[in-house]
Amino acid sequence: YQRSLSRVCHLPGETRDGYRVNVHANIELFEEVTSVLDNGGEGIGLYRTEYNYMNRPSFPDEKELTEIYSDLAALVAPSKVVIRTLDLGADKISFFGSLEEANPAMGLRAVRFCMSHKEIFRTQLRAILRAGIAGNVSIMFPMITGLQELKEVKSFYFQVKEELRKEGVAYNPDIPLGIMVEVPAAVTVADSLAEEVDFFSIGTNDLIQYCLGIDRTNKHVDYLYQPLHPAVVKSIKSVIDAAHQAGIEVSVCGEMAADPFCVPILMGMQVDSISLTPQAIPGIKRIIRQVTMEDCKYLLKEVLESDSVAGSNVLVREMIFRRF
Ligand code: PEP
Ligand code: MG
Repeated sequence: YQRSLSRVCHLPGETRDGYRVNVHANIELFEEVTSVLDNGGEGIGLYRTEYNYMNRPSFPDEKELTEIYSDLAALVAPSKVVIRTLDLGADKISFFGSLEEANPAMGLRAVRFCMSHKEIFRTQLRAILRAGIAGNVSIMFPMITGLQELKEVKSFYFQVKEELRKEGVAYNPDIPLGIMVEVPAAVTVADSLAEEVDFFSIGTNDLIQYCLGIDRTNKHVDYLYQPLHPAVVKSIKSVIDAAHQAGIEVSVCGEMAADPFCVPILMGMQVDSISLTPQAIPGIKRIIRQVTMEDCKYLLKEVLESDSVAGSNVLVREMIFRRF
């Protein structure tokens, strides 16, 4: 089985009837790139940059960040690397002092934190723009909740770009720009957000948490954390449809993309790419290559008609076992 996985992982993520889904990797550390390449990752769909900022006495400066991002981009080029801007709250950065938030998951985090600490944000944006000349870099903003916020973040990004231009610093002016769709508000207004960006990436870890009101870190309610809850499935489908309606690509980068029972459903929705932990890539590619798009569409239809999570789980299991 292991041998067959290591063979399959370097083949494309393509169904038996020729539908292609790009399979990218989520990483947190530069050192994980080897594992991405070994496991057949076709690029990096989510580079979580938080580790560059944590467990150290001060923030990285522009030079250090530019070097890290450039090295990463050069190493995976011509494949792409999607750099997510900082998704930290002040609760995670010891030298910033404690914010005393009762619920940091809904507090001053991600773009909210960055927009209220513009010097930190500027440094990171400059580094990403500069690293854009070393390879195939995209930029992605986390926790976007609406159009106004997105426009403010974009406007700051354009301002930073303009500063680099005036200073004569080399940077890539054409970096694709995307957002994570991971808050129910963004799902609801996905059609207008799609007009403003080049791609979406659906963060199902947070989307499930906020959609179902289940703290993703709380053991007491983990039995209620259900990726196949009808509300979650319908939310994801509506985001994918809104993206395609606007002519942009959409990826799924939460844990659902590494779940063998969820991937066929995401494929039925015609997701363009998925991004997952490198070690899970071979097993997921194997599933993609065993099924047909027809199977996935049929499954999706059944799951959408089923009103229970248990019912959906049975349907997916039946399909997967029929194919293997
Ligand atoms: C997500 O929310 O699904 C996601 C990919 O981001 P993170 O797990 O880093 O919040
Ligand atoms: Mg998230």
